[in-house]
Amino acid sequence: MKYVFVTGGVLSGLGKGITASSVGRLLKSRGLKVTAIKIDPYLNIDAGTMNPFEHGEVFVLEDGGEVDLDLGNYERFLDVNLTSNHNITTGKVYRAVIEKERMGEYLGKTVQIIPHITNEIKNEIRGVAEATGADVCIVELGGTVGDIESMPFLEAVRQMNTELGRGENCLFMHTTLVPVLGTVGEQKTKPTQHSVKELRSIGIQPDIIVARAKQALEYSIKRKISLFCDVPLEAVISAPDAKSIYEVPLILDEQGLTDFMIKRLGIEGGSEDLRDWKKLLERILHPSRTVNIACVGKYTHLADSYISHLEAFHHSGAEKDTKVDLCFVDSEIIQEHGVTEELEEADGILIPGGFGNRGILGKMLAAKYARENRVPFLGICLGFQISTIEIARDVIGLETAHSTEFDPETCDPVVDLLPEQREIKKKGATMRLGGQPVVVTEGSKAYDLYGKTLIMERHRHRYEVNPKYIERLEDAGWKFTGKSPDGLRMEIAELQGHPYFVASQFHPEFKSRPGKPSPLHLGLVNAAIERKFGASS
Ligand code: GLN
Repeated sequence: MKYVFVTGGVLSGLGKGITASSVGRLLKSRGLKVTAIKIDPYLNIDAGTMNPFEHGEVFVLEDGGEVDLDLGNYERFLDVNLTSNHNITTGKVYRAVIEKERMGEYLGKTVQIIPHITNEIKNEIRGVAEATGADVCIVELGGTVGDIESMPFLEAVRQMNTELGRGENCLFMHTTLVPVLGTVGEQKTKPTQHSVKELRSIGIQPDIIVARAKQALEYSIKRKISLFCDVPLEAVISAPDAKSIYEVPLILDEQGLTDFMIKRLGIEGGSEDLRDWKKLLERILHPSRTVNIACVGKYTHLADSYISHLEAFHHSGAEKDTKVDLCFVDSEIIQEHGVTEELEEADGILIPGGFGNRGILGKMLAAKYARENRVPFLGICLGFQISTIEIARDVIGLETAHSTEFDPETCDPVVDLLPEQREIKKKGATMRLGGQPVVVTEGSKAYDLYGKTLIMERHRHRYEVNPKYIERLEDAGWKFTGKSPDGLRMEIAELQGHPYFVASQFHPEFKSRPGKPSPLHLGLVNAAIERKFGASS
């Protein structure tokens, strides 16, 4: 097993996750089996309890792991399914060590960060990587070098390098920022020098520096970084702003990064195969038409909160030679001011998942607008529940229908907790999570899109459509065309007589991949194209 450790310097938000994913994709394009691990140095056990406002989307894995959104990037770029063990957090590491201490496993020793925490980190990384049978494991360290929280992880990977034959099996890639100063636009290397110095003071010498900058690095700047940071010139790589994240692997590859890594790690790589990737990028960069989709939610000022939807639309658009412009509309604004121009101009509307009361009525107004005006609509998770409530209120006439999440005393709990969920007080990892089977009704729109009756999709919810209301909802035209195999949980609904008004309790966006778009997102894009350009498109 070979390891590529990706660290970050200068500041966060440099796209380290995309760099790590791209590097993985490049190694994969040479016929290598690649896996990836994300280290998050926070004390939370997992991302499940974290607010998307702060951290972006919580990504959900097949095994129900609620993880950092970078795992979504790895899954999409590498086309693999990862498990929750691939996201190592300080919380998980300390919990494991403290449990062992309570079991007496340390034989009376004083338990310390070095060696006990660092040993645990090393064992977890190696255990997870080796279990996959991959040739190379990319390990991305969250945060920036110099953060107190990152220290035990950096120390652990430093030790790993020594134990695995000093440089033979481990490669260190450091991502930094090269800012531009002044009117002449001089690229400045000092922040990079300082962060490499910081890394070296911990005992890690980077093998590769990936420098984010507005433009490609000038040759003289590459030389300067090479000299000051003691990295070969060919291992100083520019990562200029890209038009699409799917362009990044190609930008890195063109500079010889893949060849350098393969040589440096002493592995046999096959000949490069990036043909499908290049085709995808071509379709993303040069689409022949555009449709507008409005995403009505509450985390709208942080695009990362809906990153998997954004990607699912990229994948769907690429299939149809169409650019999907996703515009984020704050549901509170609709709640206050009614349907806005942005919504009226949209060729399709998405209501994504969410929690909490804020902006709920705005989302209902958006669903009603789509229903009445025959605008293509997709509701996901909370969006599924909202559209069900809206139909119960407006079509059936149950004026106070609600979810008990928002109105525990409602007379018509159209969306409610199952009895088993009522008992649960703990918040972490207690929702209905991960891949669950769904039976799709033949002849439905969902069946047309999935092409089969048994599908597996990922979930993350507590509340469900209340079985007591199913008959009335179906009589009102809201047909449940996807259910759990026991028939008790409602999973997909479709409004009869509408061009495309579909909602699901699960999150198809988490399984969307380049070349294999989420069927329900593709359905929305198809319907939006039809609405804008006519039926023959
Ligand atoms: N808040 C809703 C529930 O818990 C929906 C969750 C979601 O959209 N992910 O069921």
